[in-house]
Amino acid sequence: MLGPVILAASRSDKMRRFVSAAPGTKQVVARFIAGESVNDVVPIVQDLAARGLEVTLDVVGEDITTVEQSYAARDAYLELIGRLKELGLGTRAEMSVKLSMFGQSLDNGHELALANVRPVVAAAAEIGTTVTLDAEDHTTLDSMFAIHEELRKDFPQTGCVIQAYLFRTEDDARRLAAAGSRVRIVKGAYKEPAEVAIQDKAEIDKAYVRIMKILMDGEGYPMIGSHDPRLISIAQELARRAGRKLDEYEFQMLYGIRSEEQNRLAAEGHRMRVYTAYGTDWYGYFMRRLAEKPANLLFFVRSMLTK
Ligand code: FAD
Repeated sequence: MLGPVILAASRSDKMRRFVSAAPGTKQVVARFIAGESVNDVVPIVQDLAARGLEVTLDVVGEDITTVEQSYAARDAYLELIGRLKELGLGTRAEMSVKLSMFGQSLDNGHELALANVRPVVAAAAEIGTTVTLDAEDHTTLDSMFAIHEELRKDFPQTGCVIQAYLFRTEDDARRLAAAGSRVRIVKGAYKEPAEVAIQDKAEIDKAYVRIMKILMDGEGYPMIGSHDPRLISIAQELARRAGRKLDEYEFQMLYGIRSEEQNRLAAEGHRMRVYTAYGTDWYGYFMRRLAEKPANLLFFVRSMLTK
């Protein structure tokens, strides 16, 4: 019941100001956000790499409102890629981006987001890595998939995300399960209406399994984005049945969530990638993490009260 309320609050400026100023917020945010700057995140990437984990880095931010902010987003990623190059971490870390941070919802936003993300994808390719386009709310997805297709003409390794809760996703998965494509499947983290998305959790899980099967049986590279132990073991079984080797798919989880399980899968020889978010505009990302697990909200409220 609480999830939709928190997701609605994740889009409210009033709540943003309240949560950002609340005592105890910083401590809870630190569980999910790896730091504020590139300098904060570099030692974390090094530590994850030393533990045999791969990384996808996300500079937090979304729904920006000015063209200048969209340029700043592009530049933040270019700075990050520059640092990864200096440190020789290019092959361990890829990037995840949200196109709404690159200007997608502004006037001429589709073209602006494409123009901003292209140099980031090119810089990533130069250091031997790649970029995955995150999936945001359903109204943004046609534009995201069109940008993905355009980028893949020059950078075929560019990945994208599909969300199991949307009715459209099985068709998207069939279209994307082609040779050379990299597709992350997740349950979906936004508040979506019943006209476009499954509302029942058990039905979302069933859709997730059907979509994983399409990806595993296809010719692309599936990236299983989930912390759900049941779905992770089904993924292993589907991969085995599809005759995939361990390096022909990967698991992905979020920084700060089920770290032991991340270590366990890596120790078993799986490619395990940790989605590591950092930056100052953490509000939307943080609220989605609270919405996913009511216990997080309880922890947050307790830490506010004890400050
Ligand atoms: P759940 O059933 O939600 O969780 C299973 C178990 O995992 C829970 O019982 C709990 O133990 C643990 N868990 C899950 N979430 C939390 C949490 N926040 N805090 C503490 N424990 C938790 N969504 C999008 O819409 N677009 C994206 O581009 C996107 N990218 C993602 C990238 C990665 C690598 C991952 C892992 C998720 C991403 N998501 C994205 C979020 C996703 O849609 C889900 O909201 C989120 O993963 C929770 O679903 P779950 O599969 O882990 O299953």
